[in-house]
Amino acid sequence: MSLIVKKFGGSSVANAERVFNVANRIIDDYKKGNDVVVVVSAQGDTTDDLIEKAREINPNGSSKREMDMLLSAGEQISIALLAMAIEKLGCPAVSLLGWQAGFETDSHHGIARIKKVTAERIKNEISKRNIVIVAGFQGLNKYDDITTLGRGGSDTSAVAIAASMKADICQIYTDVDGVYSADPRKVPTAIKMDEISYDEMLELASLGAQVLNNRSVEMAKKYNVELEVLSSLEVKPGTIVKETVKMEKTLIRGVAKDSNVATISIVGLEDTPGVAFKIFNKLAQHKINVDIILQSVGRDGTKDITFTVPLDQGSVAVKALEGMKDALDFKTLKMDDSVVKVSIVGAGMESHPGVAAKMFEALYDAGINIHMISTSEIKVSVLIDGKYADKAVTAVHDAFLG
Ligand code: ASP
Ligand code: MG
Repeated sequence: MSLIVKKFGGSSVANAERVFNVANRIIDDYKKGNDVVVVVSAQGDTTDDLIEKAREINPNGSSKREMDMLLSAGEQISIALLAMAIEKLGCPAVSLLGWQAGFETDSHHGIARIKKVTAERIKNEISKRNIVIVAGFQGLNKYDDITTLGRGGSDTSAVAIAASMKADICQIYTDVDGVYSADPRKVPTAIKMDEISYDEMLELASLGAQVLNNRSVEMAKKYNVELEVLSSLEVKPGTIVKETVKMEKTLIRGVAKDSNVATISIVGLEDTPGVAFKIFNKLAQHKINVDIILQSVGRDGTKDITFTVPLDQGSVAVKALEGMKDALDFKTLKMDDSVVKVSIVGAGMESHPGVAAKMFEALYDAGINIHMISTSEIKVSVLIDGKYADKAVTAVHDAFLG
């Protein structure tokens, strides 16, 4: 007998038929004698619809406290409906809001962090052999106000319960059947992974392969919670995410593309100490995430600096830097949003030379020019023209995993 935490996303409970499908999956495990705690998100597009309703009342944005009060209602609906479906199928279930389940958070409305989950009530209900259904994405701050955890936060709710209750596994059900070596809709030869490490999963997620919410993976790593990503529609094993993963023959685990990227080039900067400091300090003050940075060799007393930022922060970055024109004294500043970042990820590359070269060769064979490169222990990223994104992913994927 195990303690299993299961999380179902909004699309898995979008209508009555799907709610019953989920209820049946839960009951299967319950009837095998397992203790089951379930976390659900709001049905379908409910959260977006609620945001729209708030906009109708105040287009300029309502207070964050009231937004949380509103958005948390979406999950209140889905937990009750799921508990009703389980009862209808003849099993005992009880639904709990975040605060009833013991979710204590900080007070950053809209993006609150979980401080702890006491889970007393959950344990109590489990001991009565109830199936416990918990509202994801929400908690309570020290002033007894409802908070929400940020979009996609239900994954984190599930991991937090699993960590606090020392569950045997935390299963995250989605509309894909696992984590793939590339986007299977774009790369037909993409393979489903049996296992992936937390670090690899974090890299892939941050590179746009959005299967799990990043914060949930960080939390799973911190508390060593074993995750499984699996399909809510088909009954078959998914992908396990855990600390160490057996080495396979392949050096890389997956290829991802990130389109949310732009480059900013500052040309003709003075080649003196402190210039880079001034630029990146300014960007830091605006909370702009800089990724790849390239500085040219100084020539005739001037140098150029090019770097990447998330596309949605690009114009803020440009504005901040243009405001420094007098202090910095550069010739031109321009942003290019027609680029994408393509990356390979794999813990295996750490101890194997030649991985980057093999990637560059695949791109060369496909006739794709590289603008910028960056590497870490388990990742190599290149910046290329956006129009070649899919071609590049396929070429690189086939070179390593084809
Ligand atoms: N319902 C919330 C959202 O749509 C939380 C979640 O889905 O995890 O962001
Ligand atoms: Mg949702």
